Amino acid sequence: MKVGVLALQGDVPEHFRALRHVVPHERLLLVRTPEELATVDALFLPGGESTTIARLLENGGLWRPLARRLGEGLPVLATCAGLILLAREIAPSPSGRDPPTFQVVDVTVRRNDYGTQRESFEGPVRVDRLEGPPFPGVFIRSPRILAVGGGATPIAWVENEVVGVRAGTIWGLTFHPELSGDPRVHRKFLAEAFPAPSEKRAQARRPGR
Ligand code: GLN
Repeated sequence: MKVGVLALQGDVPEHFRALRHVVPHERLLLVRTPEELATVDALFLPGGESTTIARLLENGGLWRPLARRLGEGLPVLATCAGLILLAREIAPSPSGRDPPTFQVVDVTVRRNDYGTQRESFEGPVRVDRLEGPPFPGVFIRSPRILAVGGGATPIAWVENEVVGVRAGTIWGLTFHPELSGDPRVHRKFLAEAFPAPSEKRAQARRPGR
C-alpha cells in the first residue's frame, strides 16, 4: 500500500509529518507527476490556495489522471483547499475568481467564509466514531460548507455546523488535521480505506454495508 501527498503547493510537509506517525516511511510518497499518481493507493490533498493548486494540476498534466482516479474510487483525504477542489459547487465568493473543481463531493462551499475576525481559529471538532476527546480543529481561511447534498454524509461538526463530510471513499474537511499534532484523523481515514482482514470480515457481516 502506497500513500501519497499531492505536493504542488500548500501544507505538504505538515501532512507528510503527520503521516509518518501512521504509515511506514517507505510507503509514503510525494506526488508531483502523473507517474507518481499512478502508483498510490490513497492520496492526501493538502490545504493551501485552491486556485494555485488547480492551476498547477492543469499545467502539470495531473488534472485528467486525478479525475480518472477519483472516478475509480481512490481513497482521498482532502483538507481545506483540497476540499474546495473536490466540491460539487463553489458559491461565488466576494474575493472573486474561484477555481474549477472535480465535482466529486456533493457539497456547496464558499471560500474564506468565516470573515476576517475568525479568518483563522481553533475549535473542538466532533468527528464521527473518533475515539477520545474532541479533535483540536485548526481552521485557516477555511471554506464554509453551505449545503450537503444526498451524495455526501456529514462526519465532523463544530457545534452544529458541518466541517467535514464523506462521499464514498473520499473525506473532505474544512479544518487541518495535519496541523494539530494529533494523528487520529489520518489514522482513522487510512484504517477505513484499508481495513485489516479481520475488520473486513466484520464489515461484511454487518447488515446494510
Ligand atoms: N482560502 C484558501 C482557498 O480558498 C483555502 C485555505 C486553506 O487551505 N487553508 O483556497
